[in-house]
Order: sequence, then structure tokens, then C-alpha cells
Amino acid sequence: MPLKTREEYIESLRQLNLNLWMFGEKVSSPVDHPIIIPSMNAVAMTYELAQVKEYQELTTAISHLTGNRINRFNHIYQSNEDLLKKVRRQRLLGQKTACCYQRCVGMDALNAIYSTTFEIDEKHGTEYHERLKKFLLHVQENDLVSDGAMTDPKGDRSLPPHKQADPDLFLRVVERRSDGIVVRGAKAHQTGIANSHEVIVMPTIAMTEKDRDYAVSFAVPADTEGIVIIYGRQSCDTRKLEGSEIDVGNSRFGGHEALVVFENVFVPNDRIFMNGETEFEGMLVERFAGHHRPSYACKTGVGDVLIGATALAARYIGVDKASHVKDKLIEMTHLNETMYACAIACSSEGAPTPSGAYLIDLLISNVCKHNVTRFPYEIARLAEDVAGGLVVTLPSEKDFRSPRIGRYVEKYFKGIPSAATEARMRVLRLIENLTLGSGAVGYRTESMHGAGSPQAQRIMIGRLGNFDFKIELAKAIARIKE
Ligand code: SF4
Ligand code: FE
Repeated sequence: MPLKTREEYIESLRQLNLNLWMFGEKVSSPVDHPIIIPSMNAVAMTYELAQVKEYQELTTAISHLTGNRINRFNHIYQSNEDLLKKVRRQRLLGQKTACCYQRCVGMDALNAIYSTTFEIDEKHGTEYHERLKKFLLHVQENDLVSDGAMTDPKGDRSLPPHKQADPDLFLRVVERRSDGIVVRGAKAHQTGIANSHEVIVMPTIAMTEKDRDYAVSFAVPADTEGIVIIYGRQSCDTRKLEGSEIDVGNSRFGGHEALVVFENVFVPNDRIFMNGETEFEGMLVERFAGHHRPSYACKTGVGDVLIGATALAARYIGVDKASHVKDKLIEMTHLNETMYACAIACSSEGAPTPSGAYLIDLLISNVCKHNVTRFPYEIARLAEDVAGGLVVTLPSEKDFRSPRIGRYVEKYFKGIPSAATEARMRVLRLIENLTLGSGAVGYRTESMHGAGSPQAQRIMIGRLGNFDFKIELAKAIARIKE
């Protein structure tokens, strides 16, 4: 059965020879680096839950290629039920990790490329779809993590790729050979790249014929020669080096992003899924974004943890019965469930593409992610409101453990007599982590910009809103004849 255990996954990462840099130095063993380990643990949870019987309905699926049970992260959506299970699994994993568990971009990339290559082949007689299926089989049978790489650095946003002062600001083909292509450029904000076996590259925007060299999609192993990974900093990241569990807030789990440079990377023909078909770029980008936007149901799982932490922090100081506190918890829940409802709705309204793979309802998917660009900020604001200023003024765990002054921290930060000061410190640090610390990368800024910034959704909502149809509805009711 192609399902790796947590240990097998970590061992498989150890076998990779990543060219990964942090703080100006090459990291010799990423799996042993204290800043990277929590993010690895979060991805490992996608393997762990696939081994637990009660979660297997959501965390695994039956491959339409082989009939084997595979991790759902490597599955091509075969029905609305598959789309719904994905969303439910996203929430579950958010609840278990309270962070970005990174494996979803590759999943949505596989699905978008699967359906798009089918349609490119139909038009051009190419063989991209068969290649993608072969790659998919490799990923499914070896239970691999794929980094989905879309976002180019983009330089001057007012110019298309071919007009940039530096032509590498969008990833491009620099050489075409009989056995493959050579590419150069970079992808920014790459979620989970250090925990991935493969990188799946897609173009980032719709392009014109002049941008042919930029219309490229392919997959290569993450440790391919020429790939350089430069790890992104996160707020409070070096707390993970201090050996203090409490001060990190969520010491076991976290996410990460990195800049991934492709310095003349060779891609063999059987790993190329698009090469110059500019007219299909819009479809690929739109389908990837469409799939990835409801994947942000992950944030509702993290939201569940934050709501729980807020309720607990209130209980520890005896204000949990106050009506305004209850009302704030209700508001947080209302916002959280509204995001979830949209993710569920666009999945249940999904429909098959010509390839047979299912696609979500694009309009509702964009509404879903648009809510995600706003609601976590309000939920975080309410969490900070209820939790109080101690979220940012609490002394360190080392002070708490100090034989000389620890008793002051213990005494003066005690809430209700039945709650331990340490428990209160832990929950406040968790709130800090999610709203201001390294966890806020995933819960806040990633909610804003991941899977597209708010304006990207507004463009789609404007395009799909079908105002002419609505005008006709109004005319019919108002009995206007023109
Ligand atoms: Fe997955 Fe959410 Fe992280 Fe995106 S932000 S990779 S959807 S967990
Ligand atoms: Fe993301």
C-alpha cells in the first residue's frame, strides 16, 4: 500500500540533497534544523493521520489510476464528494497543527494541470496529459510531497514578462534541446519547499504570444542541480533556537516559505506539461487558483484552535461567563463558519471538466478566499481583545523557571485559583503565536496573499458575477421592455 508512515516520510526527506540556505549559510541537514523541524512535523501530520483508521475516509482516497489507497493530497478529484472531503480534511489538519501544513499547493497544482493538459492535448495533439499521469503515478505510488510553484518575483508589475528589464523576473525557458528544456528564474513564497520531494512549476499570469518562453509548466525533484532554496524569515522565528517550549507558543508545528531559484535547471521532456501554449495559461492559473482558494478551509481549523484558546484564556481569569466575552466568541465562530460554508458550497457545486476531473464552482471559490483575506484579521482582533495585554508583555519561560524570580511570575500572573499560571502562560503564548508570531504568517498574512491577494479575487468575482443576467432579472420583475 503506497502510504508512508511519519518515520518513512522523514527518512525520505533525509535522502534529499537540498541546496538550502538560511541566515547566509548552507543548511547541511534541514530535517535536523530547529527552525525547520516544526514545519516538517506539520507535513508529517498529513502522513500520520492517513494511518489512523478513524481519519482515513478524509485523509486517503482510492487512486483512479491504480485502484490503490493513496494519500488524498495526491488524489485527482473524481466527484463533488472528493472536493468536499478535501475541505473537511483541510479543517481537520488545521485543528491538529494550528498552522500551514504545506501539502495542499502541490495537490491543487496536480489537479489544475491534470484537467488543463487534457484540453491542451485535445487542441494541439501534444502528449502532456499522459506525461502528467505518469508523474502522478510516481507521486501516488511513492507517497510524495510536491511543492506547487506558481508565484514569479514579477519585478515591475506594470510590464509583461518579455518587457521586464531583467528577463529572469518571470521563470522562462532559456534553451530548447531535443531531450528537454533548460529554465531560469525563481518562484517566491514557496510554501513547504524544504519538506517537499518534488517541485511542480506553473506560470503565474495569463500571457500573450510574445511571452511564449514563459508559458512553461513542469516538475523536477526538489534537489535537482541548479535549484537554490533561500529560507524565509518569520516573526519570532529565532525563539525556536532558545530551547523554550512555552515562549514559542506552538512549539511542535509551523509552516515555512522560501525563495526558490532555478539557475539553468534542465527538465527532461517527460516532465514537461506545457511549453509555449500561451492560450492555455489563463485556464491553468484560473483552475489552480480556483482549487486552491477553498483549500484555505485550513484557516478554519486554525480558527477553531484560536477560538478555543481565547475561550480558555477567558476562563483562566474568570471572565468566561461575561456576556460581552461570550458575544465575542460567538462573533469569532460566526466568521469562522462563514469561511467554511463557502469552501463547502463551492465544492458541492463543483462539476466535471472534459478530463473527468472535478472543478469547484469558480465564483463561490473566489468569494470563499475573499472572506479569508478579511475574517482571520477580525478573529485575531477579537482574540487579542479578550486575551488582554499580557499576550505581548508576558515574561519569558526562563524567568518563570528562574529559582530567584520565578515565584513572582507564578504569583502575579495567577488567574482563578484552580488554573495553573503555567497553563495561562501557555495559552497566551499560543494566542501570541497565532496573531503576532510565526503562526501569524500562516493565519494572517498568508490568509491575505496566499492563493492570491484580495484584488485577484475581485477581478474573478467581477468576471463571473454575470451582471447582464441580473439586469435581465431586474427588468423582468420591473416590467421594463427595451
Ligand atoms: Fe495548505 Fe492552507 Fe498552507 Fe495553503 S495555507 S498550503 S491551503 S495549509
Ligand atoms: Fe498558502
